[in-house]
Amino acid sequence: MAEDARQVDVLVVGAGPAGLAAAARAAESGARVALVDNNPDVGGQIWRRATQHLQYLPVAREWIERVAQSPNIERISGAYVAGIADRRSVAVETAQGTLHLGYEKIVLATGARERLIPFPGWTLRNVVGAGALQAMSKEGLSVKGKRIVIVGSGPLLLAAATSLHYAGASIACIVEQAPWWRLARFALRVVRDETKLRQARSMRRALRGVPYHSGAWPIAAYGDGRVEGVTLRSGLREWRERCDYLACSFQLIPNAELAKLFGCRTDRGAVIVDQEQRSSIGFVYCAGEISGIGGLERSLVEGEIAGYAASGQHEAARALGARHARARDFSRALDQTFALRSALRRLATPETVICRCEDVRLRDWAGTGSWRAAKAQAHCGTGPCEGRVCCDAAQFLFGWRLNDARPPVYPDPASIVGAEM
Ligand SMILES: Cc1cc2nc3c(=O)[nH]c(=O)nc-3n(C[C@H](O)[C@H](O)[C@H](O)COP(=O)(O)OP(=O)(O)OC[C@H]3O[C@@H](n4cnc5c(N)ncnc54)[C@H](O)[C@@H]3O)c2cc1C
Repeated sequence: MAEDARQVDVLVVGAGPAGLAAAARAAESGARVALVDNNPDVGGQIWRRATQHLQYLPVAREWIERVAQSPNIERISGAYVAGIADRRSVAVETAQGTLHLGYEKIVLATGARERLIPFPGWTLRNVVGAGALQAMSKEGLSVKGKRIVIVGSGPLLLAAATSLHYAGASIACIVEQAPWWRLARFALRVVRDETKLRQARSMRRALRGVPYHSGAWPIAAYGDGRVEGVTLRSGLREWRERCDYLACSFQLIPNAELAKLFGCRTDRGAVIVDQEQRSSIGFVYCAGEISGIGGLERSLVEGEIAGYAASGQHEAARALGARHARARDFSRALDQTFALRSALRRLATPETVICRCEDVRLRDWAGTGSWRAAKAQAHCGTGPCEGRVCCDAAQFLFGWRLNDARPPVYPDPASIVGAEM
């Protein structure tokens, strides 16, 4: 494989909304920018494959075109940053070989992944991440006529349901663990925001007639090798729903592994940043879901701030403070509304597989009091998902502190484990 080396002023990792906004603002400020993403196309999760129908997506169009038209931005797609070469350069793995990219400032906009929670049957085929199923359908998986139950927590359930509905799936029901009264309070907030209200209305139109159960969650999936249905619970009531896919998503977890390699400080999984999105390591900026879950608007404004600040435009970065404060306020509302209930920690039985890659069961962790001990005793966390599914599960189930990140760091492969293509 060939090796190559280059130098830029600002390197942006991740070309979702946050990375696009960061690259565009840094380039407008005169910086030479490289924008690296592991996907073939820019757009990240929410705008995956958006370049094919930009006429319907004005916000995506604005940012994608700004980046495409900027002579200061070099786009490096289908490539990933797996580790740090030295503090001011990273090794980018491309199809052609390794590229050593040096930079003055780096903006990490690596997004988030779905949390999957273990319960009996969650390793059956076609039990998948809700966002992952949506992504696979955008990448060509046909869900036409498939009956899908969507379970978990957070606005992603509705976004995924809408997208899968338009792809021809039959959404059997949406099962949200948050109680109705918290959702009602959240809805009152959404109606005060014109953009969010418009989004909510269009999802409601698409999902008319689809049962939405609040205060409910899955207790077991069943099927012979492949999922055939799920048992759900709400209070004392239990019932079964038949399905071809069970799509799960219990909130999002920041992809902070690369930031941790730099030594950036984190709090509850998210990278701690200042008002200019600068992390505890001065030349490392973090924007979007890596520094807190908050939806599109937060990712965009944080990307803009990071792009300005990394290219020395501190006034312009500060001018976005009010928009940023509103976006962070929305994040707090998300946290409060969709906080996961403790009953979800008791779904797995001793026989439930915890590590899907290496077939480790909950009972194999008996007597271990830390992730390190569980890993050593049961040899989990080293399979194709890089330990992300079982590691995230361990943290949720037991509140264990996880090990520091180690290279190589791969972009999230986790939530598509178990899907039948
Ligand atoms: C699976 C999934 C589906 C979602 N679907 C929707 C939806 O339909 N509607 C909605 O409103 N919100 C959706 N969201 C939430 C949405 O992603 C956020 O609201 C927000 O847009 C995130 O923007 P971001 O730029 O911070 O991150 P992202 O959009 O996640 O972008 C991060 C990008 O960085 C890349 N990356 C990560 N690590 C590396 C690396 N080491 N090297 C190279 N590239 C890397 C990723 O592949 C990705 O393209 C989804 C989230 C997830 C996890």
